[in-house]
Amino acid sequence: MNEYRLKFLERIQRTDTVYSFRFCPCEKIDFVPGQFAQVVFDEQDRNNKKLNKYLSFSCRPGKEYVELTKRFSGSDFSRRLWSLAKGEDVLLKGPMGSCTLDDQHHKVAFLIGGIGITPAISILEHVVFSRLPCDVIMLYSNLLESDIPFRSDLDAWTNHDPSIHVVHTIVDEKPHNNSYRQGMITSEMISCEIPDLKERIFLISGPPAMVSAMNQACRALGCLPENIKSENFVGY
Ligand SMILES: Cc1cc2nc3c(=O)[nH]c(=O)nc-3n(C[C@H](O)[C@H](O)[C@H](O)COP(=O)(O)OP(=O)(O)OC[C@H]3O[C@@H](n4cnc5c(N)ncnc54)[C@H](O)[C@@H]3O)c2cc1C
Repeated sequence: MNEYRLKFLERIQRTDTVYSFRFCPCEKIDFVPGQFAQVVFDEQDRNNKKLNKYLSFSCRPGKEYVELTKRFSGSDFSRRLWSLAKGEDVLLKGPMGSCTLDDQHHKVAFLIGGIGITPAISILEHVVFSRLPCDVIMLYSNLLESDIPFRSDLDAWTNHDPSIHVVHTIVDEKPHNNSYRQGMITSEMISCEIPDLKERIFLISGPPAMVSAMNQACRALGCLPENIKSENFVGY
């Protein structure tokens, strides 16, 4: 597994609780869109799970910076990340993960819960930038409308590219207009929004309970297990 030293550049607010962190890598990091890495704040004790945590890349490869995005809690890791000073070094171990898009996958469906959006952002930014011939449908669930990280990027991509379609669903409040669906993602919602589901590769990402429910729903709807890939955000 490779390790990289990165220099902290800047912090960007995405929602009230979600922030992105941009770093300048001293050498090129060869990650594939959709992968993640471990941020190692405790280099002496690599088993320190409180200070060494996994975060997904939230940008495409090949930019002048790499970006990681965290939903903040009061944890030691959150505090350490927040306290980074401009120019400070951070150790990154990775990249890891196989919840990625292969060249032959042209029809894609994302099922995403909350902060699980980070690998999807990396993939979509790559698809848009590289003008890949992909047909994308995303079902994206959040608790509140104001909770949707990367909303402006998602809107820009869907407005600019008719082959990218995002359906937002809001769980904890009545949507303010009918461009949103209400409630958690269900099998009914999947089959209604994704009628050609058997032709698509499914990429599922979010908290473990959501990922498990989505896997079951996809299988019950007849998706082949080899067409379902998922990333479990253990820790939520
Ligand atoms: C592959 C992968 C990619 C991820 N990508 C992102 C990302 O892009 N953005 C993001 O915000 N988060 C991501 N996560 C989750 C992230 O690693 C943290 O677990 C999460 O942010 C919670 O950490 P915390 O310090 O805020 O909370 P904490 O207070 O440390 O943890 C919250 C709760 O989860 C429990 N918990 C924490 N870690 C674990 C664990 N390893 N196993 C079991 N229970 C645990 C704690 O006991 C506590 O109850 C990812 C996780 C994985 C595995």
